[in-house]
Amino acid sequence: MSETAYDPQNIFGKILRGEVPCHKVYEDAHVIAFMDVMPQADGHTLVVPKVPSRNLLDADPVVLGHLTAAVQKVARAAKAAFSADGVAVYQYNEAAAGQTVFHLHVHVLPRHDGVAPRRHAGGMADQKMLAEHAERIRAALQG
Ligand code: 5GP
Repeated sequence: MSETAYDPQNIFGKILRGEVPCHKVYEDAHVIAFMDVMPQADGHTLVVPKVPSRNLLDADPVVLGHLTAAVQKVARAAKAAFSADGVAVYQYNEAAAGQTVFHLHVHVLPRHDGVAPRRHAGGMADQKMLAEHAERIRAALQG
């Protein structure tokens, strides 16, 4: 396999196939969104297209359109759910740029004035806390 091929055994591929659990906050025909297990801020959510691609570089532009629409939805809900002052949205392509899971995904981080984000993929969060944060975002998505 070439270094830049999509490997279906990546962890998000497994989550999409239901082989690994996640704290899901949103799903539609094109994407799912779930809590990052090593959140850089409370409410850190990942938005993941169902159609496989390794990252932005090999993705279908139509998929990127659906993904961006879902990112906006989740960003608005996460900001409201955590009474945040802003939302950071970011996305890495290839290891050199910081990508560690090779299925396209977008990070959504509620941000508060004067609060620095925690380290990228720094430490596992408490599952109960992630479940509670997911519930807050699901409620905001409905509200
Ligand atoms: P990347 O570095 O590829 O942009 O980000 C991958 C993200 O996936 C990291 O923020 C990391 O904390 C998160 N992550 C890694 N493994 C898992 C997992 O098994 N479940 C969930 N929900 N997130 C994961």
